Amino acid sequence: MVTIFAEENLKLLEGLPLCCPQCKGSILQKKERFLCNVCKRQFPVIAGIPDFRIFGDPYLNFEDDYKRAQLIAENAPKFNFQELLKFYWSHSPETPPPLREKFVRTALLAEAKAEGILKELALFSEDLIKIDQNVLEIGCGTGGFLVSAVKTYSHVIGIDIALRWLIVARKRLEESGKKVPLICCCAEYLPFPDGFFNLVVTAATLEHTRDQSRVISESYRVLQDRGILFLSTPNRYSLTVEPHVYLWGVGFLPRSWMHRYVYLLKGVNYKNYRLLSYFELKKLLNPVFSKVKFSLPDVDNTMLINFSRWKRFQVSVYRKLRKVSLFRAFFLLCGPMYHIIGQKTS
Ligand SMILES: [Zn+2]
Repeated sequence: MVTIFAEENLKLLEGLPLCCPQCKGSILQKKERFLCNVCKRQFPVIAGIPDFRIFGDPYLNFEDDYKRAQLIAENAPKFNFQELLKFYWSHSPETPPPLREKFVRTALLAEAKAEGILKELALFSEDLIKIDQNVLEIGCGTGGFLVSAVKTYSHVIGIDIALRWLIVARKRLEESGKKVPLICCCAEYLPFPDGFFNLVVTAATLEHTRDQSRVISESYRVLQDRGILFLSTPNRYSLTVEPHVYLWGVGFLPRSWMHRYVYLLKGVNYKNYRLLSYFELKKLLNPVFSKVKFSLPDVDNTMLINFSRWKRFQVSVYRKLRKVSLFRAFFLLCGPMYHIIGQKTS
C-alpha cells in the first residue's frame, strides 16, 4: 500500500508539531509508527497516514476501515476522483443506492461550498485575510474544503476519523495538484499542541461525533488567542428534510425513537447521528467561547441544480426572509442549517 503519495504525506508531516492525542506528551516518529514518550502508546502509519485514533468511527471498525482503505488505495490509480467516489459507494453495502447517488453529488459540490465559507470567514475577521495562517479541518471527508482552503492559506491540515475517506481525499488533492498533510484521528483527541491554529473548521461533522462537548473543548484548546472556530451543522428542528437520510420530521421525535423511525422508512442505521437545536448548540458553545455568532447560511447556487422547482421556490423565499429580523428569529429556531463562528479570547 506504500506509494509515492504515502512518502509524500510523511514528508508533509515533518516539521508539524504533533503530540500524543491521548496524553498530549511528545511523540517520536519512526517510519512505520509514532510512539508517545510519556504514555508509551503506539500509533501505526498506514499508506503514509498516521493513525492517531483513540477509538474507531461509528460505521466501520478498525479492521474493516483498513480493508476498505486498502481497496480504495489499490484502485485509486485506475480512476479519476469522480469515478473513485462512485467506486467507493459501490463498495459500501451499508448505504442504500439512492442515498449513495446523493452523497456523490454532495461531495462534488464541496469545493464550491468551501469558497462560500472562506468568503464568510474573511468578512468576519481581518486576521483571516492573511495567508500565513495555520488552518485545521476536522472531518475533511473527501477533501473539498482542503482543496479550496489551500489556495487561500499556506498551512492547511486535514483530519478525519475514517482512514478510507482520507484515501479518497488524497485522490482529490492529487488531481488538483495541491499538497495538504492528512492525519487519521478523533475530533475528541487531537494530536496537536495547545494554541497552534488560527482557524479550525468543522463542517457537517459535529453531528456525527461521539462526544460533542469534547470536540468543542479540543477545538478551543488547539486555537491561538483570537483564533476562530467555524462550525456548520444542520438544525435538529429544521422544517425541511433530515439532510442525511432525506426524511421529514426526524428531529421532532424523542431521541430514543429516531433510529426506529428512520430504519423503518429508509432502512438506515440512525444511531450515530445527533443533530442539535439552536438552544442545544448555544449550551454547548457559550461556556467555552467568549464570542459566538450564529448565522443562517445562504443556499449555494451550485446546489440549486439538484433541486426540484418546488424546492428552488422554497430557497428563493428563504433567501428573502432570512434577512428580515422577525423571520431571522424564526429561522434560527427551525431553519435548515447553521453557520457558527466562535472566537477564542483570553
Ligand atoms: Zn501519550
